[in-house]
Amino acid sequence: MEKLEQLYEGKAKKVFATSDPDALIVDYKDDATAFNGQKKGTIVGKGVINNRMSNHVMQILEKEGVPTHYIKELSERETLVKKVSIVPLEVIIRNVAAGSFSKKLGIEEGKKLLCPTIEFSYKDDALGDPFINDYYALALGLATREEIDTIKKYAFTVNRVLLKYFEECGIELIDFKIEFGRYHDRIILADEISPDTCRLWDIKTHEKLDKDRFRRDMGNVEDAYKEVFKRLGL
Ligand code: ADP
Ligand code: UDP
Repeated sequence: MEKLEQLYEGKAKKVFATSDPDALIVDYKDDATAFNGQKKGTIVGKGVINNRMSNHVMQILEKEGVPTHYIKELSERETLVKKVSIVPLEVIIRNVAAGSFSKKLGIEEGKKLLCPTIEFSYKDDALGDPFINDYYALALGLATREEIDTIKKYAFTVNRVLLKYFEECGIELIDFKIEFGRYHDRIILADEISPDTCRLWDIKTHEKLDKDRFRRDMGNVEDAYKEVFKRLGL
């Protein structure tokens, strides 16, 4: 598989074309951003951790019936993935109140929700990824009803599988963001699952082991990412 030209450089990853028109190479960077790119920094070693963790988790999800873009890990930072047309929705699942949910609804961070919730943001940096619902997504032609139903079904499966898996590693899955894409007209899980995109707390002490340490200037950011990596046995 030949690595060809860079197609895109995002905030956390670079994307390259390959000699296979159906495949891309993603290259994970150590760059970190928050608040829609307003806060910038580096988390040393993050690219390696996020690449390996995302690939590991996607392989678990495949076995549990969630199709993913993962094909093959090529190096510490590079992975071959199926090239999808990204559905421009950030799909967020929450088990425990935190972040924007706590702020918007005045609910203390750490309060367990009675059931998991799902929400969508319209993936548009210029607009700051605004909160939308199914009807907006349908009305704007972002996805069909069938695609939205598939996305919801897969998102709740991802939550069920990862809640249990992380719990076995001493980690509580508070919330996370995932993205889906169309691959030959089928919906598959794409992008990444990592401490950049999940809130992960120590199950006993509730210590934050994720990107909130960077967003909130809490220190020990690298150590938190390494700790997650270690607990997952990677
Ligand atoms: P951002 O674009 O938000 O800065 P990244 O730095 O993570 O984010 O860039 C990776 C980009 O690649 C994202 O826009 C993501 O939606 C897209 N992407 C992720 N997986 C795939 C895939 N399998 N096929 C095509 N695009 C993908
Ligand atoms: N999230 C993400 N990318 C985003 C926004 C959110 O990966 O652009 C993740 C975030 O890490 C958290 C979950 O989605 O695990 C819910 O985030 P929230 O809506 O609370 O937003 P935040 O407080 O991060 O602004």
